[in-house]
Amino acid sequence: MTQITAARDGTVTPEMKIVAEKEGRPVEEIRAGVAAGRIAIPANVNHHALSPEGVGAGLRTKVNVNLGISGDLHNEEEEFAKVAVALELGAEGIMDLSNHGKTREFRTRLIGMSSAMVGTVPMYDAIGYLEKALVDITVDDFLEVVRVHAQDGVDFATIHAGMNRRVIDSFKETGRLTNIVSRGGSLIFAWMEATGNENPFFEYYDEVLAICREYDVTISLGDAMRPGCTYDATDAAQIAELIEIGKLTERAWNAGVQVMVEGPGHMALDEIAANMKLEKRLCHDAPFYVLGPLVCDIAPGYDHITAAIGGAVAASAGADFLCYVTPAEHLRLPDVADVREGLVATKIAAHAADIAKGIPGARDIDNRMSDARRRIDWEEMFDCAIDPVRAREYFESAPPSTEGTCTMCGKMCAMRTVNTIMDGLTIDLDAK
Ligand code: SF4
Repeated sequence: MTQITAARDGTVTPEMKIVAEKEGRPVEEIRAGVAAGRIAIPANVNHHALSPEGVGAGLRTKVNVNLGISGDLHNEEEEFAKVAVALELGAEGIMDLSNHGKTREFRTRLIGMSSAMVGTVPMYDAIGYLEKALVDITVDDFLEVVRVHAQDGVDFATIHAGMNRRVIDSFKETGRLTNIVSRGGSLIFAWMEATGNENPFFEYYDEVLAICREYDVTISLGDAMRPGCTYDATDAAQIAELIEIGKLTERAWNAGVQVMVEGPGHMALDEIAANMKLEKRLCHDAPFYVLGPLVCDIAPGYDHITAAIGGAVAASAGADFLCYVTPAEHLRLPDVADVREGLVATKIAAHAADIAKGIPGARDIDNRMSDARRRIDWEEMFDCAIDPVRAREYFESAPPSTEGTCTMCGKMCAMRTVNTIMDGLTIDLDAK
């Protein structure tokens, strides 16, 4: 039984109860959301360290961190230092994008210790795991990689099943400035062009679903045609793929498999809200998981900011899950500091969106922070901060000469002045 089949039967699972408690929502609301597909609870039956999270309508916006061993930089311990940062800062998802070396060893170690849900892109792993040239990989090989990831306890797997021949025809007819920028999408495209075959994940989708159902892997329908620049956003290829993904969403639900849909990419600010509505419409309100969107193309080194701007707009317009982007995007594999920077930026976007969406209780921590600011209670301010370490470092790096203030305004501290007056006392701006 998967979360969605249980929900449809009227069964409340332990995972639904945990999600309801975390979200402060009635468990029946969670069960109904899972039954309808509006909420996914990615929870592989073999992921025993998991603290389940719900992704979808009416819930807090969740945040994902990408990491994993790459061919050029394969320092396993550094990747686990990134895992530690992700868990410390409360990322709800960790995607293992390893594509080199002992990927299975890394993946099983991660799943064994991660309370966050774990996602993978089996296509990335196919070449390394099978030790074959891309064109020699068979359909059975692809399915075998998906099965191994499912057995290992992966909670959600990105499957680029939507990029079928119809979508590729559309892409070739209309052309693009940056072609296909999805790594998994580009590999499948290369395989399809070399073999002349249909996308194996589309053609053998029922087989993929059977594997996902067995282990309750949530299928994350990858957007191979996500725009890689603002010029390509909302074009024929992107929308053609989204239409296919909408049909695949219903097929997954009918097979008892939970679904998330992946989205752009790069996109101008004014197109984001409409794209969120389009996804919800075409994909029947399935949870939407977006990378960015990055709202301009010219900020390498700062793309955690371009993505956070787009992520805040996307989530406030209906996106449910934000994949982080780090300052290293487009430039190199992120290091641990980049992971912290990117994760915090994405968490800010998610939280800003939750306030705008009116998620119950979302503002409580902001009100607590504001109250602490008025009272100039530094310890409580650090406790409320999204990144308490950074906040404390800044404050302690420049001790104020006037007690109970900071070096921004010193003795002219507005909080101190008004608090003193409100307490019926006289303010002495000459006092030390
Ligand atoms: S000194 Fe200025 S910035 Fe610092 S706590 Fe007071 S009002 Fe805020």
